[in-house]
Amino acid sequence: MQTPHTQFRKQYLQIPIAIMVILWALAFIYWQRGGEVLSALLLAYIGLFVGAGIGLYIAFPPLQRPKARRLVMLMVGGLLLVIALVSDHGNMQIEGLFFGVLTGVAPYIILHYALAKIVGPLVFGRIWCGWACWFAMVLDLLPYPYSRYRIPGRWGWLRYAHFGVSLVIVLTVWFGYHISGAIGDSGLAWFVIGLLLYYAIGIGMAFALKDNRAFCKYLCPISVLLKTTSRFSLLKIGGVPTSCDECQACVELCPMNIRVRDYILSGQRVLSTECTLCQICINVCPDNTLKLTFGLDIGGQEHIDYEPPRSRVRRRS
Ligand code: SF4
Ligand code: SF4
Ligand code: SF4
Repeated sequence: MQTPHTQFRKQYLQIPIAIMVILWALAFIYWQRGGEVLSALLLAYIGLFVGAGIGLYIAFPPLQRPKARRLVMLMVGGLLLVIALVSDHGNMQIEGLFFGVLTGVAPYIILHYALAKIVGPLVFGRIWCGWACWFAMVLDLLPYPYSRYRIPGRWGWLRYAHFGVSLVIVLTVWFGYHISGAIGDSGLAWFVIGLLLYYAIGIGMAFALKDNRAFCKYLCPISVLLKTTSRFSLLKIGGVPTSCDECQACVELCPMNIRVRDYILSGQRVLSTECTLCQICINVCPDNTLKLTFGLDIGGQEHIDYEPPRSRVRRRS
């Protein structure tokens, strides 16, 4: 008997494999005709990412897909990070964005933030956070993928404070010293320093709070931008309330502690601006209740788990 997963795999697995073969063939032809080796390698890498990354995600059984997602994230985030470092577009941290807007000398940074973190989330929500972020690709490899609940209270405001402090520092430097000429020269150095600092803080928080995504939940200033526009996202997690048996698996295994079940039972899509579209909830649901859906609604209504769960989870077999 064919399971929904077998049907899904048969239907879609050929697509990434075909794209990979085509891109590899194009890379080979390009290289043979005297094209740059680096461009050919980039083409081949994108083929590998589509074929191996997306292909594995489709081929894996649902409970193994979070592993394939981590691989995809490493491949996408790693590539974007290497491109950002090698092409030396300056500081890609949020401070770099503020400087870029003030000086107008960093069009690549502004374009990156506009596409991935401001306009893109209107359609694809926080898919950047679930599938491409070069910080979270490292955090997701740490030993605490599923925290039991969030810390209530003022912790939620830390990221807004971080955003505000970063903005004030940049404005102070800008209006105090007018160092626009030096920004382009030192941008890459600030980017690397910021990266190392963020990794150190993110990894430290993950171990201290036993939660890989603690930095994302409490301190990341970029999430302030992402949360603002992703509430209008066309792509969100949806589900059929009548097929939900309230097992709680989606709630207990959501890395962002979203009470997915509450949205579904009330006939809504997941309206939380914390959702990273990682799709773990879809894959762990034993009743195949959840799926990705396109639609029009306004998010921002937050159902977050601030309490230790009381029930036992019925896991998908
Ligand atoms: S919240 Fe910040 S660190 Fe976390 S995945 Fe999103 S952009 Fe990356
Ligand atoms: S609601 Fe689902 S897709 Fe969104 S963060 Fe939680 S597990 Fe991931
Ligand atoms: S995992 Fe599926 S069946 Fe269980 S509560 Fe969530 S939506 Fe309902």
